Amino acid sequence: MGYAKGRFVVETHVHAQRHAFKFKEKGIKPDYAKLAQGMPDSVIYDNSPRLLFDMDLYGVDMCVLMCGFGMTDELNEEIVKNHPDKFVAVCSATSYMHKVRKGEVEWSIKEACKELDRQLSTGMFRGIGEFMPRNPKPSKPYSWEERFEEICQIMEVARKHKVTVGFHTGTLSGYAGAPRSPGGAFTELQYPLLAHDVAGSYPDVTIIMEHGGHSGGWSEWGFEPTCQVASSHPNVYLETGLWWAELYERVLRDPNIGAEKLVWGCDWGASIPQQWTPGLHPSSYADQSKKDGPPAHQVDVWGWSLKQLDKLDILQDDMNLILGGNAARIFKLEDKLPHTRLFKQYLQ
Ligand SMILES: [Zn+2]
Repeated sequence: MGYAKGRFVVETHVHAQRHAFKFKEKGIKPDYAKLAQGMPDSVIYDNSPRLLFDMDLYGVDMCVLMCGFGMTDELNEEIVKNHPDKFVAVCSATSYMHKVRKGEVEWSIKEACKELDRQLSTGMFRGIGEFMPRNPKPSKPYSWEERFEEICQIMEVARKHKVTVGFHTGTLSGYAGAPRSPGGAFTELQYPLLAHDVAGSYPDVTIIMEHGGHSGGWSEWGFEPTCQVASSHPNVYLETGLWWAELYERVLRDPNIGAEKLVWGCDWGASIPQQWTPGLHPSSYADQSKKDGPPAHQVDVWGWSLKQLDKLDILQDDMNLILGGNAARIFKLEDKLPHTRLFKQYLQ
């Protein structure tokens, strides 16, 4: 076991499933454009052995599993059942979404919510994420009014089950950002400020801004609006794992954000390598490189992210909140903790 950076470390954004494309066998030149077209014919497999190796190496106690595209909630359920002390999962109605993608059924937010409701009723899932279900093939771009109506129905399900909802922010260069799927460019995927409408309408539902406005790249375009939402609503948390040290510094000193609203989540398993830009700011960052193509190796995101945390001159009690204390509370992991009173708490 490696040296743990905190008392109970929870990584809140993990993909324990991986795609096998077999590019070589199919005689296809590997590139991101093919992946962005919906990962045709890829085989999904349980990648938890590599995940458990990294958890042991870096002292990560638990992971919150979620599905990127093509992955299934059902396989995550199996992985959780195999290691209930190591994993919990959130859901995103993947079996329904696969049927819509294959054209077997038409998109309906009602059906998507019915499936979320069913999944959450099993008690197997702790929240909704990383994406809120949306029409994968809309005939015209979504307007925010339309999308907000859908999101409200998803929020009602979350409210009923008292679980968290992931609000996805940021894009990656390899997947070509906004055009990844039609209708995504002008909705919540690109405009974190839209979360104000959602957070204000559902103040009793915990919202996690996935990737904290920064899912990759050197630009801070999504970071500032995302922080602005978090500073305005007590129910909004920021996921931090792909931030470089200075981004933490800024929110930690914001009296309306601070360590209490941060959860560490690195997109482990998303295959986003680091790019090196010495002499610039930041001197390294996570993003895909179309020139290099998709990585075959298991990218070591925790090594990079924990190095950023090492640069922070903060109190260990605050570090413990970021690395696990806040996550233990919002994902209801109290029964997994070895003791009570491990995290900052004062008699008042
Ligand atoms: Zn992800």
